[in-house]
Amino acid sequence: MNVRVGSRTGGKSTRSGEILAQKLYAEGIVNQQVLQAIARSPRHVFIPEILAHKAYDNTALPIGQGQTISQPYIVAKMSELLLADGTPESILEIGTGSGYQTSILAQLTPKVFSVERIKSLQFQAKRRLQAMDLHNISMKHGDGWQGWKSKAPFQAIIVTAAPSDIPKALLEQLADGGRLVIPVGEETQILKIITRRGDNYDERQIEAVRFVPLVPGAVQ
Ligand code: SAH
Repeated sequence: MNVRVGSRTGGKSTRSGEILAQKLYAEGIVNQQVLQAIARSPRHVFIPEILAHKAYDNTALPIGQGQTISQPYIVAKMSELLLADGTPESILEIGTGSGYQTSILAQLTPKVFSVERIKSLQFQAKRRLQAMDLHNISMKHGDGWQGWKSKAPFQAIIVTAAPSDIPKALLEQLADGGRLVIPVGEETQILKIITRRGDNYDERQIEAVRFVPLVPGAVQ
């Protein structure tokens, strides 16, 4: 597979990024736009320096505050699911964390809204994304259980922490025909994709996953 270079953001792919994208292709990720975004994203800037040698491994890593940067395969899989019906105009992300998933989404869609409950993580993510010249991202410090009502409806919503049940506010803030990609469960978690059809919500189960919990409330 060739991961082609050249993007809206003008970023260049790196050798380590391309190798990671090729691994993800081998694991079943087929969306070329997603693979290109992975190839171009400097994952090492999103993790503590001491773990830099693991930055392009296909694994989740700790980012402080008991949180993790998601595994690249899962980042790619969730992005691919969001784009399966075409490019959404805007995406709501719950759980900014390191900002890595945000940086991928910002290369795939015109506008990203991202909510994080831990202020210090949000602050660091914002600085990284600005340094990458990604300016189509709006961030909010708050509780993702509530979504982002004033910016709704969203054609696509992605949640990168697992609630025990799907937050009602997120279902309400989904546009008609829109897609919500979300891990659900406690001990055992399943990645789900919900598609809104008027007042009906079609649910499809994708695969077993492991995320940190979606914790109610925001903290400094
Ligand atoms: N996509 C991120 C994943 C970070 S882990 C990355 O790749 O780095 C999940 C994140 O969700 C954590 O940063 C955690 O603080 C955040 N989170 C947990 N509960 C939340 C809530 N209720 N609202 C907003 N963010 C939440």
